[in-house]
Amino acid sequence: MGTPAEALRKLGYPATRGRGEILRILTESPIPLSSKEILDRFPPPRPDASTVYRNLSLLASLGLVRSVALHERSRRYEVASDGAHRHRVVCRECGRIASFEPRRCDLSRFEADIRSTLGYDVKDHSLEFFGACPDCRRTENGR
Ligand SMILES: [Zn+2]
Ligand SMILES: [Zn+2]
Repeated sequence: MGTPAEALRKLGYPATRGRGEILRILTESPIPLSSKEILDRFPPPRPDASTVYRNLSLLASLGLVRSVALHERSRRYEVASDGAHRHRVVCRECGRIASFEPRRCDLSRFEADIRSTLGYDVKDHSLEFFGACPDCRRTENGR
């Protein structure tokens, strides 16, 4: 597939600084980021929020970036071509997100079910776990 910038050009879109920075920021982050967090990490000069948002939707529609809805209050993004396979755990209380690389990830039984019942050929998956983070557990127990 080459670098994301090459992929962009191949699709006929110039690899502008904004698009390049978004892809770099997302590649360097182990967890998916909201558009606000992406903007906060932009080196100056910072584009305005609507430019970042527009570029994110473009990158998502080109399949270079994936949007994930981890927490009901925020939509987050991650690079689609990231080599590492990660699962995430989200705190229901404060929304804090952690990610980990599973030692083994065999969902072939689910994939077979999906294929036989819905007819989809599964290529990828994204798994999220929800619970209470260490900080929130501490306050819960202190009550
Ligand atoms: Zn928490
Ligand atoms: Zn997995």
